[in-house]
Amino acid sequence: MQLKELNGIGEKTEKIFQRAGVNTVEDLLSYYPRYYDTFEEPVLVQNLEADRTQAVKGTIVREISVRRVRNLQIVDAYIRDEEGNGIKATWFNAPYIKNTLHQGDVLIFRGFVHENKGSYVIDQPKTFSFVQYQKKMGEMQPVYPLVSGLTNNMVLKAVKQAFQIVSKNENIPLAIRERFGLQNAEDSIHNIHFPKNQKDFMIARKRLVFEEFFQFILTLRALKEKNEIIHNKHILNEPKELEHIIDNLGFQLTNAQMKTWQEIKHDISSDKVMNRLIQGDVGSGKTIVAVLALLTAALNKEQGAMMAPTEVLARQHFEDIKDIIRKNNLELTPVVLVGSMTAKEKRGAYQLIESGEADIIIGTHALIQDKVNYHKLALVVTDEQHRFGVKQRETISEKGDSPHTMVMSATPIPRTLAIIMYGDLDISIIDELPAGRKPIANCVVGTDYRPNAYNFIEKQVQEGRQAYIICPTVEYSEAVEGENVIEYAKKLQAVLSPSIHVDFLHGRMKAAEKNEKMEAFAENKIQVLVSTTVVEVGVNVPNATVMMVENAERFGLAQLHQLRGRVGRGGNQSYCIFINGTGKKDASERLEILNRSNDGFFIASEDLKLRGPGDFFGVRQSGDFEFRLGDIMNDADVLKNAAHAVDLIENNEVYISEEERRELYKNENKMINI
Ligand code: ADP
Ligand code: MG
Repeated sequence: MQLKELNGIGEKTEKIFQRAGVNTVEDLLSYYPRYYDTFEEPVLVQNLEADRTQAVKGTIVREISVRRVRNLQIVDAYIRDEEGNGIKATWFNAPYIKNTLHQGDVLIFRGFVHENKGSYVIDQPKTFSFVQYQKKMGEMQPVYPLVSGLTNNMVLKAVKQAFQIVSKNENIPLAIRERFGLQNAEDSIHNIHFPKNQKDFMIARKRLVFEEFFQFILTLRALKEKNEIIHNKHILNEPKELEHIIDNLGFQLTNAQMKTWQEIKHDISSDKVMNRLIQGDVGSGKTIVAVLALLTAALNKEQGAMMAPTEVLARQHFEDIKDIIRKNNLELTPVVLVGSMTAKEKRGAYQLIESGEADIIIGTHALIQDKVNYHKLALVVTDEQHRFGVKQRETISEKGDSPHTMVMSATPIPRTLAIIMYGDLDISIIDELPAGRKPIANCVVGTDYRPNAYNFIEKQVQEGRQAYIICPTVEYSEAVEGENVIEYAKKLQAVLSPSIHVDFLHGRMKAAEKNEKMEAFAENKIQVLVSTTVVEVGVNVPNATVMMVENAERFGLAQLHQLRGRVGRGGNQSYCIFINGTGKKDASERLEILNRSNDGFFIASEDLKLRGPGDFFGVRQSGDFEFRLGDIMNDADVLKNAAHAVDLIENNEVYISEEERRELYKNENKMINI
């Protein structure tokens, strides 16, 4: 049903909702709150903490004043609590406050507390009488994810209306719900939006997380079943050139790489089609293994394709492969296909791919577009596979006649979970870093360390090295605090010597511009690259030795570990500087985990321990599997139950009615991807 059917939603508002991914009234039901606001007991001024929403009870001690700053009207109120300690409250562009609040009023003020020049200020507090506040205490108010133009109230109103008109279908069979103690669909969807208390929320959440995993596993199993019976139509034997190529790499493959390569070789020459996951920490050298497989397909006179999540990465893989082909005088034609190419360039590529002249094809999502017809596709590699959905993986395979597939991932998840999450795949693990890598030197510091960091970067650049600096946001915004890429780059250029070229990169730039900047960085025309996390995935510039992350507290540890993986890729000692922008101790403690270890798996499990399993709203463990609610590490038990439930169904060990069965397989895989 269209959103416009709802009261208060016209065309303009509909567009705003669409930007948040809500296209229909049904979508509203699964637009889950990010967290819930609870009204806690008011505290004394001396117990307030900065950067949190809190309530204080106090008396307004002076007449309310209004001041003007540029075109802003600012209302100030001075409040004193029962111990005589004071705090200032401030409202912007709300001059009417002066008429509603007066000296002598005793009220509860609830708002975001921040520190300003050594004292606390409470921003735009809402005011309540004691009785009003008492009523609110303990209630959980949903706080929704927002985009610009969308307010929490707009979402709340829309969701409430949606509940009047549409309902959620039950897609977990009764026998399964009973067996695993799961709530029904209708109650859980209601209670995830409007839980009366923490217990309600937990019960609802458990069911919905189960459902996400359950649907995902059902889809995977269906895929596996399909793949298992497939006969190998592309027998790829080791070409005679391969030994020489391996000898000529300029480095020796690690044992783990060799073992993985043997497993792949065995698969692609056997009588069943290959479906294999290559799991290995950042920097473990997954690319070269994939490249060997692609070359093998090409030298067998068939085609191999590799899909990467970003153009930058696709182009980089393309350059690497071209190098190897050139160095070994191979008569092969590699082709790149990415979105930012001109129509003419694309047509040229399509033609080479279709005629079979192209032996190796590297690209982004562009590889799975309708217009691309492969001549003889024998192998499909998906790099950083978590960035793609299971469906996309499938689509590219369908472009060929049952090609071999290989997916690569750096997700550090335990093997028991990997077997569930990649249920349709065999797994190879590269658990060894190339020899001679110096461990990365880490430090976790406050913002006051910046001058030292800049000096250090300057010295590294003088020695010929390069640096990344990561900021959480693209440009300045009042809504989000934290460093932003554009201004930071400007400020930094002024601090560093003019001979050092500082530039920036972010996800909102046009793909062509991103490629240019990334190439310029790879060629050392840019020495310091200030960027958002777009560099997080896979990029390889071995000459970069410094990774500095501003507002590191904003990122998940797994993500920071990925960022760190951008350095330490060459022979030079590399350094990672994590800046804790809040100065808060718990943030530092979390970041210290990175300091102690360079092992992705250890980091993920320590992060989990520190936060405890009850922390649903913190930073996600494994951004890799973007379920709406569930997190495979935090909710590992639910995940295992969901897998068990699917087993029960497949083995006919539970009763399922015809109707339930139809409902089971009706739902598309709901996994969302970035
Ligand atoms: P990831 O597993 O994160 O995708 P890459 O494949 O990008 O890692 O490899 C990281 C770097 O290590 C690249 O510069 C690559 O050339 C290099 N490399 C890969 N294997 C080896 C090896 N056995 N010895 C030395 N360097 C290697
Ligand atoms: Mg990689």
